[in-house]
Amino acid sequence: HPKVTAFLNEPKRLFINGEWHESIDGNLFETINPATGEVLATVHEAGELDVNMAVHAASTAFEEGDWPAISSYERSKLMHRLADLMERDFEVLAQIDSLDNGKSIKEMTQSDLPNAIEQLRYYAGWTTKMTGQTIPISQSYFNYTHHEPVGVVGQIIPWNFPIMMALWKIAPALATGCTIILKPAEQTPLSALYLAKLIEEAGFPKGVINIINGFGKTAGEALVKHPKVNKIAFTGSTPVGQSIMKEAANTLKRVTLELGGKSPNIILPDADLNKAIPGVFSGIMANQGQICCAGSRVFIPDHLYDEVVNKLVDYAHNVKLGHGLDENTAMGPLVSARQQEVVISYINKGVEEGANLLIGGEKSEKGYFVTPTVFSDVEDHMTIAKEEIFGPVVVAMPYSTVDEAIERANCSSYGLAAGLWTEDLRNAHKLSRKLKAGTVWVNCYNLTNAAAPFGGYKESGIGREMGSYALDNYTEVKSVWINL
Ligand code: NAD
Repeated sequence: HPKVTAFLNEPKRLFINGEWHESIDGNLFETINPATGEVLATVHEAGELDVNMAVHAASTAFEEGDWPAISSYERSKLMHRLADLMERDFEVLAQIDSLDNGKSIKEMTQSDLPNAIEQLRYYAGWTTKMTGQTIPISQSYFNYTHHEPVGVVGQIIPWNFPIMMALWKIAPALATGCTIILKPAEQTPLSALYLAKLIEEAGFPKGVINIINGFGKTAGEALVKHPKVNKIAFTGSTPVGQSIMKEAANTLKRVTLELGGKSPNIILPDADLNKAIPGVFSGIMANQGQICCAGSRVFIPDHLYDEVVNKLVDYAHNVKLGHGLDENTAMGPLVSARQQEVVISYINKGVEEGANLLIGGEKSEKGYFVTPTVFSDVEDHMTIAKEEIFGPVVVAMPYSTVDEAIERANCSSYGLAAGLWTEDLRNAHKLSRKLKAGTVWVNCYNLTNAAAPFGGYKESGIGREMGSYALDNYTEVKSVWINL
């Protein structure tokens, strides 16, 4: 798209207080096209001084700018305007993420981008519908509650769904009237910068949304430490989430965390295999397996094990790998050379520990591809059955009773999601309750919607994104007493 070419040739600066700034320290970093290994663009890197400037802008916008003064209806209109602009530049945004992340253009246009835009439209509807309560205490007093925006929020996102993660974060924060500093992942800085251009065009007041690219150890940590940031919303790995929570304790910032997973996808004995096998396969292979909720442990009844595993191998054999922008590509590269290395080392570990590598496990010479991989004879104690691989690797495990499958499914430090494949609705309800996971998909997988909450149990996170639940993350409740 000509707009993509033009954008790639523009300087990639920091978007602070509605203006474009070069990094104060003059630092730059490169973003790579993972399909080719070539440099896609050079980007200004935020350091602590830039973070301070962005926090000052967001804090001023929150306290005294136009933002607190405009009505909730006007806020809603601005959000719809931004959604309109994203729809106008749909192809551009889709191509930018596909180039920067490697993912297929089909996933961008059919899933990531519609989902991102839906967040804005959904939360634009909420701006005018957030109400408090009136609480009759006695004849002498009554009390009412008021939901106020929490203030300046720092939002730190990963690289696996760049534009979608940005909108999962921005939309509820805008709806509640917060101001925002968004730090995209250093691997995928571009679509957020294009979004900043649209934010400028939509006419948001200065400082309401600031977008600063940079690294976790510098820009990310500076945001988390800053005393004027009232809340951090983070999506990423569990170890980084833990360090953020520790650091946030110093200023008692509000924290919500969307972290890793090792989600079980369970085929029950009465499943319709024609739906279950492709469902399980795409449950792990979508986005090259780089999904926090990927169904990365597949549980299969003993008597169906060989049949299911053979079909999974057939599917793996037929996946078309390629450049994300090629319409025929089903699977793009992993996001980076580092990610390719991590996934290959997990595959090697699987072989060393005695799992049976049936297909895949190869990496490309050019770009960061890993071929779809299927392991059988995997046991619960093996590393590939316990740790998050974040790559296109099926870990197939047999079970003999349903109770055993549920117990083993729950035996993980994570609890983000789980899948059940069954034709028995009663069983579906009963077993959903037993699974210790924030989301249970029955006869489907990896579905999300702006209206439905998403988040983790256990070490998969704290708090929920999306739906009305996310609004609580961005508001404080004020209790007002009136003496009659
Ligand atoms: P990561 O935690 O290393 O990085 C994520 C983000 O945090 C990046 O923007 C990074 O710059 C920043 N960051 C890194 N160190 C930081 C620090 N010390 N302080 C502040 N910010 C810091 O994660 P990753 O490996 O790049 O991403 C993959 C991980 O994200 C996986 O574990 C995956 O499960 C998880 N993830 C979870 C969800 C979810 O919704 N639960 C969604 C996508 C990804």
